Amino acid sequence: MNRAIGDRVARLSGYGQRTFADGYIFRPGSVEEVINVFHEARRDGRNVTLRGAGRSYGDQAIYPEAYVLEIGRMNRILSWDAQSGIIDCEAGATIETLWRHTIEDGWWPPVVSGTMYPTLAGALAMNIHGKNNFRVGTLGEHVLDLEIVTPTGEKLTLLPTDPLFPAVISGFGMFGVIVRVKLQMKKLESGNLKVLAVSPANWDEQFELFEEHETEADYMVSWVDCFAKGTEAGRGQFHAAWYENGESIDRRSLWVSRQDLPDMIMGIFPKSLVWRVLKLLCNRTGMRLLNWAKDRAGRLLDNGKFHTQSLVAFSFLLDYVPNWRNAYLPDGFIQYQSFVPKEHAKRVFSEQIKLQQESKLESFLGVLKRHRPDSFLFSHAVDGYSLAMDFKVTKARWDELELLCHRMNDIVLAAGGRFYLAKDSTLRPEDFQQYLGDSTLKEFWRLKRLIDPENILMSSLTSRLPVLRTPLEHHHE
Ligand SMILES: Cc1cc2nc3c(=O)[nH]c(=O)nc-3n(C[C@H](O)[C@H](O)[C@H](O)COP(=O)(O)OP(=O)(O)OC[C@H]3O[C@@H](n4cnc5c(N)ncnc54)[C@H](O)[C@@H]3O)c2cc1C
Repeated sequence: MNRAIGDRVARLSGYGQRTFADGYIFRPGSVEEVINVFHEARRDGRNVTLRGAGRSYGDQAIYPEAYVLEIGRMNRILSWDAQSGIIDCEAGATIETLWRHTIEDGWWPPVVSGTMYPTLAGALAMNIHGKNNFRVGTLGEHVLDLEIVTPTGEKLTLLPTDPLFPAVISGFGMFGVIVRVKLQMKKLESGNLKVLAVSPANWDEQFELFEEHETEADYMVSWVDCFAKGTEAGRGQFHAAWYENGESIDRRSLWVSRQDLPDMIMGIFPKSLVWRVLKLLCNRTGMRLLNWAKDRAGRLLDNGKFHTQSLVAFSFLLDYVPNWRNAYLPDGFIQYQSFVPKEHAKRVFSEQIKLQQESKLESFLGVLKRHRPDSFLFSHAVDGYSLAMDFKVTKARWDELELLCHRMNDIVLAAGGRFYLAKDSTLRPEDFQQYLGDSTLKEFWRLKRLIDPENILMSSLTSRLPVLRTPLEHHHE
């Protein structure tokens, strides 16, 4: 490979900016260059870590001293059929690339994360879910075929019927480099959603709202105030949304220019400055106040009302505030998301929040979603709910925070719940083993031996969870 294409040493982290590792960055522009990275790694005795846009929160796409293969330069759209909605593209294309390319033809990615910046490769390696998970499943369920390059330099095209397909999707970069993806997009009539906002007063009302809308809404999501206690515990703001259709829709809502997020908030305040204000509030007192104010504002202004919102504004709310993660500096933050069967979700989440309040380590943001199970190898979803929470990290209280997460894990596991590797920073190997079960791990090792016999593909996540590393014969470390 032409070394001038960008190998350099850089300090990398996940989105939470808590753990870092130095790696040698390679940014291949073609399949041949991908194959070459493996050649060089083998020659130099290095591991390879795959990286998309670095939007996973923890140690999923870093590994000390590794050759880090960043897929972002392979981002071309190879073909687009505006009749069938089938798009074929290099896997470094982002969710943003997809919607910008297709929306004016009346199509939208079937599943999107809360940010538009992930690459398709990274999104499929984690098998992301959206606010429509309960209706349409994960992103992997909409893939028609994909192509990978294995660490031995083989190029494989995988169809959904291929036994490797459900392992590559969800397999957090352990089975090869996803280099091309063919995806079925979702047909739209309008670029807007009809959105209902309701302010549940407590946990009971939260879950009643999800149950009321789960058979007919296209999207559902709810914010939870993790500081609220007693009869107000679980209060927040629920949103259900529906694709607009019918006679009266405005087709101009499909224009890219109508979707773009504004540069100013309320027309006057540059959004690039917002994280600096957030940083001032990024402590327990400030966040208690902000959560309270959000709750009051929701109750006074929006409760029970419908409004129209662009798909981009509804889907990628977090992209409104660029660099918001910097508010958590210097020590960063972690996200904790657990998935709990519907019968136990209310109890588990309310216990999790009580534990946080007892330790005075409340999450500054809580987001509740409805899910459905899927059959990918490292599936995280269940027929139930997830609560995602952001915890500020401070060096002084890290041990306490880790202990809190472990106590929360115990409750989740006892309820038959699951976890999501894209968000994880604190799972213990035994937690991981328990929710996945021995048969999943055995299948992982079987496929890993087949596809990556020298165990070249590694990440800091897999070294934190050693159950993923044994019992290979040849460790390439
Ligand atoms: C603000 C925010 C909101 C989010 N909202 C959601 C959400 O709503 N739902 C959700 O499911 N997730 C959500 N996420 C998580 C995010 O969608 C996932 O972590 C996703 O995997 C990030 O993709 P990436 O391109 O940044 O990949 P990275 O984070 O860089 O890597 C992710 C994984 O993919 C592997 N990988 C990278 N490239 C390849 C490749 N070419 N082939 C094979 N494996 C590869 C990596 O090794 C790693 O294991 C959110 C993240 C943020 C920061």
